Amino acid sequence: MRSAILWGMPIRILPEQLIHQIAAGEVIERPASVAKELVENSLDAGATRIEIELEDGGVRLCRIRDDGHGIERDELPLALTRHATSKISSIDDLEAVMSLGFRGEALPSIASVSRVRVASRARGSDTAYGVGAENGELTGPEPAAHPVGTTMEVRDLFFNVPARRKFLRAERTELQHVSRMVQRLALSRFDVHFSLSSNRRLAFDLPAANLPALQLARVSQVLGEDFAEHVIPIDESAADLRIFGWLCQPTHARAQPDLQYLYLNGRMVRDRLLANAVRLGYEDVLFHGRYPAYLLFIEIDPRRVDVNAHPAKLEVRFRDSRLVHDFVFRTLARVLGATKPSSLRDPAQAPTSISMLTRHAADAGIWPAAGPSQQSLGINVPGVAAAYAASPPIDSGQVVHDVARTVPPLGFAIAQLHGIYILSQIADGVILIDMHAAHERTCYERMKRAVAEGGIATQTLLMPLSLPLTVDDADVVEQYAELFKAAGLEVERSGPTTVLVRAVPQFPQSLDAAALLRDVIADLREHGATNRFEAQVNRMLGTLSCHGAVRANRNLNVAEMNALLRTMERTDRSDQCNHGRPTWAHITLTELDRLFMRGR
Ligand code: ADP
Ligand code: MG
Repeated sequence: MRSAILWGMPIRILPEQLIHQIAAGEVIERPASVAKELVENSLDAGATRIEIELEDGGVRLCRIRDDGHGIERDELPLALTRHATSKISSIDDLEAVMSLGFRGEALPSIASVSRVRVASRARGSDTAYGVGAENGELTGPEPAAHPVGTTMEVRDLFFNVPARRKFLRAERTELQHVSRMVQRLALSRFDVHFSLSSNRRLAFDLPAANLPALQLARVSQVLGEDFAEHVIPIDESAADLRIFGWLCQPTHARAQPDLQYLYLNGRMVRDRLLANAVRLGYEDVLFHGRYPAYLLFIEIDPRRVDVNAHPAKLEVRFRDSRLVHDFVFRTLARVLGATKPSSLRDPAQAPTSISMLTRHAADAGIWPAAGPSQQSLGINVPGVAAAYAASPPIDSGQVVHDVARTVPPLGFAIAQLHGIYILSQIADGVILIDMHAAHERTCYERMKRAVAEGGIATQTLLMPLSLPLTVDDADVVEQYAELFKAAGLEVERSGPTTVLVRAVPQFPQSLDAAALLRDVIADLREHGATNRFEAQVNRMLGTLSCHGAVRANRNLNVAEMNALLRTMERTDRSDQCNHGRPTWAHITLTELDRLFMRGR
């Protein structure tokens, strides 16, 4: 049977219509792909308002109306002709292309698998014209009624390609795909008004959003409140690269990689290199197995990227991919690295004064109104102010307010709860700190700094510790000997299934070197040898600091607690522990009042 197909057919040139249908196979998969091509055309035409109407999830009808510059009468038939475009005219143009389209293939492809009508009035012209296309036959142009701008009507998608039609899903599913596609596009152009209706019912309306607050409202509408309420805005540039948008706070990462939006020069892309750079940027602050959420825009000189690498242009090729990767990764790591408690207070607010704090404290019956240095009612808070005054200023780069009158972001420790949490008071409510998580992060960051500055302090063991391991694990130790050394662990293989530990990092607490080594080995094995050196050293330091950090049920005195809080305030990334869990939580006075139904 196979041979009947392969043999006996002469070579011939395919009919025009079939060529278009084959080309359509690459880019037109379902109504959402039609919507993408048409909306991109409207954006390229400078539209400020784009209305999309669907029937039957876009299969029966997908109509897109815009107020862009329109199409001249004589060019209307060309718009539906293959390889006809107004966006480039030479290879030089292609190399610097900024428009979303340039291949001149979308409209003829769509027209070959559906019934298309175009009505358009060009800016500066007082008559509108219409053309139609069905089964490769063009009709028109003839006069039509239309304001400046263009309406594209695509009906009966795949009516002449039964094999494709079979792959279409239920109306609801197709509608969802179109809706997501249009929302994705809407996130790339806040200055354009988008609306979508389905079977004459409005599905969503996104008015133009030119102010930052309105932009965040659109983000919230499209990506959800939870994302919008826990974002870190970013806008950083270096040379001719810029990255801006919103990152989710590491503690609000998601269980799925479903909120990851990346745009390159305004074009949405699904690029592995960029996605990987973002992931690495988050690596140090993310809970294991969680996925960051982000909406990021990257701008680069168009000459340094080839967007003509994929028919739907979702993939791109960089001329210097290493550079772009490192820029994205390092910028994100730096921005995320700045997540520390100083961001708690609204910078617009005046610094909170002790008198405010004590007024609240007096209300709460903890401190007398006179000041923190006096003894309290019942609860003893020795030397709180002294502990704070003795610790160095929060950040050398920051304006240091009069120490005696300023409450630090994490407040003053009051008590330890259940051997796990520290209770601290600030002007607006209380703060609970997970002491192990917090100490772990501060140890980790300190060790990273030490490694960067030339190694961490080690302690040579009087008696080297001989450790039995599996052959595989001993291999790992041998393979990563350099890495271990960088992290303060001197280890060498002494037999097929034994290693000797000669030195360990110096910690205030005594350390179970065997347990530590086993954990590090497990970590290395799980994450494999593919990762970068720096990331591996960091991972090892993470395990080390977890071992070194104060354990639950160790009693800290108030001075120790306050010292930890002050260290947190100075430590990068201290909003999360090494595993990405939050280190502290804030309960506002309003929340407390609500809890006790005060003021009602
Ligand atoms: P491309 O976008 O790659 O140029 P298309 O087949 O999508 O190719 O469109 C062909 C041409 O039709 C475009 O180059 C543009 O000149 C014109 N065109 C298409 N849609 C619109 C529109 N909504 N407004 C103005 N011109 C349009
Ligand atoms: Mg196009």
